[in-house]
Amino acid sequence: MNASTPIRIAGVSKHYGAALAVDNVSLEIGAGELFFLLGPSGCGKTTLLRMLAGFLTPDAGDIFFGDICITNLPPRERDAGLVFQTYALWPHMTVADNVAYGLRVRGKSNQEIAEHVGRALKMVRLDGLELRKPNQLSGGQQQRVALARALVIEPRVLLLDEPLSNLDARLRDEMRDEIQRLHAETRLTMVYVTHDQKEALSLADRLAVMEKGRLIQVGTARGVYDRPTTRFVANFLGDSNFLPGTVREADGETCVVDTALGSVRGTTPLVGLAPGRAVVCSIRPHALALNAADATNRFEADVKRVSFLGELVHIGVEANGAALEVVALPYSAGPLKAGDRLALGVPADQVVVLDA
Ligand code: ATP
Repeated sequence: MNASTPIRIAGVSKHYGAALAVDNVSLEIGAGELFFLLGPSGCGKTTLLRMLAGFLTPDAGDIFFGDICITNLPPRERDAGLVFQTYALWPHMTVADNVAYGLRVRGKSNQEIAEHVGRALKMVRLDGLELRKPNQLSGGQQQRVALARALVIEPRVLLLDEPLSNLDARLRDEMRDEIQRLHAETRLTMVYVTHDQKEALSLADRLAVMEKGRLIQVGTARGVYDRPTTRFVANFLGDSNFLPGTVREADGETCVVDTALGSVRGTTPLVGLAPGRAVVCSIRPHALALNAADATNRFEADVKRVSFLGELVHIGVEANGAALEVVALPYSAGPLKAGDRLALGVPADQVVVLDA
C-alpha cells in the first residue's frame, strides 16, 4: 500500500460557462485523514472532487498530492481510487474481473493481479464471491466491489462521491461502519462528498461545509456543530432555534444580547461586535434544558405541543412571543402536556451569537 498522502488545494476556482461552481477554495487535508466535503445540492462539492480526480481542470489555482502538483495530470497518473454513488461496475464481468480492471490496464502480471484482487476482496469481506456477476449481488455488495476496485490499485488517496446514497437505511449504516473500518485499517487519505450531515458528523475526522462554491467553515465534526460561524452552517448541520436580538455588550468571545427572552448571555465567533448590532442566537433544541436552575440563561415558557418519539420528546414552546423547539429525554420531560408552564435554561457556551 502506498504511504498516505496529504492533499493541498490552493486557490482553486471552476466555472461552467459564466456560472462559478467553485470559488477560490484553499484547503489542506492531512495524510490519513477521513475528510468530508459537505453542503447542499449545487454547492460545488462534486465539482471540487472531480478536480481532485482529474476529470475537470481548474480555471485557477493548483492541487497537490504530497509535494507533487497534479493540477494538469491525467486521472490515471494521479493514483487516486474513486468510488461513485452509482457503483459503475461492468455488468458482463465477474466480481474478480471488475476488481482486476485497474491492474490489467496498468499491465500487471496475472500472478500479481490474482494476489492483489484476493487481498482487496478480503479487505471488503467479499472473498468467496469472485465469480458472481454484479446482478447477482445486493446493492451493499456491489458497493463493496466498487470499494475493492478502488483499493486494489493501492491508491495514494481515496475519493468517494455520495457512496451510500443508493443504499437503503440499514445497508447505509452497515456500509458506514465498513468505510470507517477500511479507513482505520488502511489509514488512507479519504475525501468523501455528501449532502448527508449525519453521515459526515458520524464519520469525519474533519469536514468542510460549502455554500455556493465557497468553503464556509472547516473543522472537526464536533467543533463545527457546536461552534458554527454562520447561520447557514448552524442550520445545515442540524436543527437550531434562531432567536433574533440586538447586542447589548460584548467582550471578546462572550456577549450579552437583548432578545424576546430578556438578556441572553452567549458566545460568538464574530470579531468586534458593537452594541446595537442585529444578531441571531443559535440554540440547539437539546441545549435547552428543563428545570435547569443553575444555567446562566433561565426563562419560563408555555408548552404548545408535545411529540413523544420514544427515545426523545420534542416540545414546542413559546416564551414572550418567541417560538422555540426543545428536545429532551422522556424521563427528564415527565408527563408534559400543552398548556403547562415550563422553566428552561441554557448555558452561555451553548448560545452561539451569529450575524442576523
Ligand atoms: P449535488 O449534491 O447535487 O451533486 P454538488 O454540490 O456536488 O451538488 P456540483 O455538481 O459541483 O454541486 O455543481 C455545482 C454547480 O455547478 C451547480 O450549480 C450545478 O448546476 C453546476 N454544474 C455542475 N455540472 C455542470 C455542468 N457540466 N455544466 C454546467 N453546470 C454544471
